[in-house]
Amino acid sequence: MTKKYEMTIGGKTVTADSYADVRNPANTDEIVGQVPKASAAHLDQAVNAARKAYESWRFSSDADRVAACQAIAKVATDNAEELATLLTKEQGKPLNGLGSRFEMGGCAGWAGYTASLSLPDKVLEESDEKTVIQKRVPLGVVGSITPWNWPVMIAIWHFVPAIRAGNAVVLKPSPYTPLSTLRLIELANETLPAGLLNVVAGGNELGAQLTDHDGIDKLIFTGSIATGKKVMANAAKRVTPVTLELGGNDPGIMLPGTDPAKFVEGLFFGSMINSGQTCGALKRLYVHEDDVDNVANVLAEFSKNIPMGDGMDEASMLGPVQNEMQFKKVSDLVEDARANGGKVIVGGNPPGGPNYFYPVTIVTNVSDGHRLVDEEQFGPVLPIIAYNDVDDAVARANNSLFGLDASVWGEDRDATAAIADRLEAGTVYENKHADIAPHIPMGGIKCSGIGVEFGEEGLAAYTSIKVINKAA
Ligand code: NAD
Repeated sequence: MTKKYEMTIGGKTVTADSYADVRNPANTDEIVGQVPKASAAHLDQAVNAARKAYESWRFSSDADRVAACQAIAKVATDNAEELATLLTKEQGKPLNGLGSRFEMGGCAGWAGYTASLSLPDKVLEESDEKTVIQKRVPLGVVGSITPWNWPVMIAIWHFVPAIRAGNAVVLKPSPYTPLSTLRLIELANETLPAGLLNVVAGGNELGAQLTDHDGIDKLIFTGSIATGKKVMANAAKRVTPVTLELGGNDPGIMLPGTDPAKFVEGLFFGSMINSGQTCGALKRLYVHEDDVDNVANVLAEFSKNIPMGDGMDEASMLGPVQNEMQFKKVSDLVEDARANGGKVIVGGNPPGGPNYFYPVTIVTNVSDGHRLVDEEQFGPVLPIIAYNDVDDAVARANNSLFGLDASVWGEDRDATAAIADRLEAGTVYENKHADIAPHIPMGGIKCSGIGVEFGEEGLAAYTSIKVINKAA
């Protein structure tokens, strides 16, 4: 019988009236488990449980908050293999490579580091007239909504700093990959105070209800720009603070004459990490027109040594696209490029069958104006765009609604530094891409988001400033 995964509300396992199948994208005939469908009443219960927990957690000691986050890190470590296996089956990413074991390692690393952060009081003035102290206080009940690409790690990114800062949480995972998050939160509840961390599961409408709930004091959302706008519109009704981590269409610029062989690993995994289903992956590469063929061939050759397959196979380094909608989007973008003169150097022909495998695909002879270049493909496809003038490449890289990350590649480090200064993005990399860490703030500009996660600035996003201003 297919295993049912359950919600955790107020520290207790809660069953639902109905469940839906979650399928394995490497073999869609396989049902991985069943996900509950929360009712509006479940959401109310979760928000109320979080409110109750918050009323005491807001006054908890710093030591208790550190201990809670460390306990979450330990849960992620102690149950890494179980969670990684579940994650591979529902998400598709391999156990190995930059896959589900890597993601579980990230969960423990982020939780442990976030435990060590603090936001101490600041004395702004101490004079004969007054003493002024700036405190960072929690916001209340945090509503968290997560996507399907790095589901467990992004859940950790949301709820650990929220708890560290003294808040309680209601999380809603993506309907495509809810199981590993349900299980992680069930396990975490064995050590956390009841109601501090609640999880409800359901479709997109549950996300909308969560963002429109009177009991939510802060929203943290990671997902698409289209949904981010809806989250923001609902948040506006109550002036609820939001952190939005949205889509990216990260450009990279290779300086003229750069030897791609020196950077091939960084370029390849910078774009193909998680089969390209990463917000901050390299999604369009600008290369001098004289170098395009060589760069494309070097990347194509490299790709032949990176096995793509069922994630449970220990040899696999890349997995399938996660769901049918995304598979169709990736296929459409490649076909649109092909129909409009694009040259597919490698890949482009999915194997078919009951799965969403799409091969690593490198496309040249495309430019701005092609959908594959202008839109976020979110799959294992990299368009290489020819330029003949670096200034023009910078202008084209910046001419985008997106502004998550960007990168510049070359051996002349003065030249890469000068270009890095001109690229418009939350993070600009030199000679690498997609290198994130828990002490480095991450966030997008333009339509890629509002606010940052990670580091002290990320923690501060779960607080408001409270000033105590005392007469002498
Ligand atoms: P999505 O926006 O479709 O869904 C994300 C979450 O929002 C899901 O849990 C979904 O159920 C929920 N949701 C859907 N409609 C909603 C609504 N009206 N109100 C509230 N919640 C709603 O995104 P996705 O397809 O799951 O994720 C892929 C996107 O996420 C890509 O664009 C990617 O770039 C982006 N992403 C960004 C980051 C980042 O840190 N910037 C990280 C990962 C993914």
